[in-house]
Amino acid sequence: MPDSHAPAFASGAAEPDLGYRAKGFYYGGKWEAPATSNTFVSTSPSTGKLLAEVPLAGVNANPISDTQAVAAARDVLATLPLLMKDLKNPDLRSRMSLAALKAGLAFSNTKTALAHSISYDMTLNHGLPHGIACSFTLPMVLGRAVGADPQRDAVLAQIFDGALRDAPVRLEAFLASVGVSTDFASYGVDKAEADAMIHKALDGVRGKNFIGVARPSA
Ligand SMILES: [Zn+2]
Repeated sequence: MPDSHAPAFASGAAEPDLGYRAKGFYYGGKWEAPATSNTFVSTSPSTGKLLAEVPLAGVNANPISDTQAVAAARDVLATLPLLMKDLKNPDLRSRMSLAALKAGLAFSNTKTALAHSISYDMTLNHGLPHGIACSFTLPMVLGRAVGADPQRDAVLAQIFDGALRDAPVRLEAFLASVGVSTDFASYGVDKAEADAMIHKALDGVRGKNFIGVARPSA
């Protein structure tokens, strides 16, 4: 006997047409065309069928990764200094764990970019632990990213309070406050090696997922 309460799209039935057609990105009150033809695929969790192809912002970024990334970054900035002073606090530890989970969800569908790319040389050749190797270059990477794309700037501005152009300096101070030097020299890397590492990273797969243009390091 048919069950009148079963949803119309129960297995075997046709997928409903949700009417989604990619229009681009809605910024500042109007639709803007995506900068590239890159898309990600959204599939139905119940049937696995294709629902839509959604355009990707910037290089690999998308609205889902942006939301997770902004939340993760804000949580880390607020929580890490408190946790460093109170390492056994279970509430702060769970807030940092949740922030790390959000960060992982963000880059699980974008791949990582420039900071991660540089980290491999720092870990393989200089023994730097992965977390420090991925984070000590973030102010430099942020400095290269700010101003590269107004849509990306709008997302970055959601992370940092105050003027975005000052954010790299403030992020450097934040990292110093939690004991992370942002200077390659602190890790035994001279300027020539650092420059070579940055240029190699910008050329690699992860570097190509970075929005900032190649510029000599400061
Ligand atoms: Zn990693």
